[in-house]
Parts: sequence; C-alpha cells; structure tokens
Amino acid sequence: MSIIDQALAANATASASYDASHSGPPKPKIAIVTCADPRLSGILRLLGLDEPDVDLIRNVGTVIDDDTIRSLVISTRLLGTQEIMIINHDGCGMTTFTDAEFEARLRSESSEWPIAPARFFSFTDPVANTREQVRKTRSHPWIAAEVPVRGFVLDVGTGLLTEVTDAAEAG
Ligand code: ZN
Repeated sequence: MSIIDQALAANATASASYDASHSGPPKPKIAIVTCADPRLSGILRLLGLDEPDVDLIRNVGTVIDDDTIRSLVISTRLLGTQEIMIINHDGCGMTTFTDAEFEARLRSESSEWPIAPARFFSFTDPVANTREQVRKTRSHPWIAAEVPVRGFVLDVGTGLLTEVTDAAEAG
C-alpha cells in the first residue's frame, strides 16, 4: 500500500475523533516562515505556540521569494498577523549543493533546459542567509513598517534558537 493510501485509511479513522473547535475562520497572531525540513515540523512545540495562533509558511530552504511574500502580505494584511518570524536552521540540505551544480546535473539527466525554476536558492551560511531573508521581507513595501520581522537560526541538535541581528548592529 502506498503511503498516501495508508494516510487515507488513517484519515478515515482519525476524522471520527476530529476536534472541530478551530474549524471557523482562522485568526492567527503571528506568521512564521521556516524550512520544509521534517526536523522543523515540531517548531511550534519548541516555541510554546498553539497551532491556531500561527500562520505557518514553509518551503525548502526558508526562502523569501515572490510566493512567500504573497503569503506574508495576505497573512499580515488580511488575516491580521502582527509579527513575522523567519526561522532558518543549521544543517539545511540547501547548503549541500550550489544552484549551478544542481542545474547542470538536471540539464544533463533530462536534456531539458526549462526556464523555471529560475533559482533553487541554495546557500552556504545560515546566518547570512537569514539576514538576507529578513532584509528582503523588511524592505517589501506591502509589509507594514509596524510589523516586526525577526530572523533566527535553529540548532537542530539542541532545539535552541539564536536570533540573527543586522550586520550593522553586529559590527
Ligand atoms: Zn532546511
């Protein structure tokens, strides 16, 4: 049985005891952008936050791209979230290759040169990368100035977050 079929069988059972108390319109208080890495899946427990309070936006590599900005603008402007956390992590798979290497491999294996994705957003330093993602978010004209945007790196070995300060402040 495929994993999807197993999940469907489990869903039929789980729905019998489903908690519908949060099935109304969402009213999240904070938006969190983080990596799709399974090690980040328990991030809300690590932060002591409840699922209904968080608009959780995930993609591979914690990238602030056009689509993430789309989600953040909707989250802050329509859903009412008041703060933005960007949580990168050490040991991210996106540090294990470069865009150029990966593209060369895909072109070689497929003999195709598609125009998208234009970038994979690989990176080398999670701190520098987080700083860049915070700046991209902060500088977007549709993210209101009064919404705090703070970046962090999660140590997947300890579960501890370290805040990434602006390079100018860090000196
Ligand atoms: Zn990652």
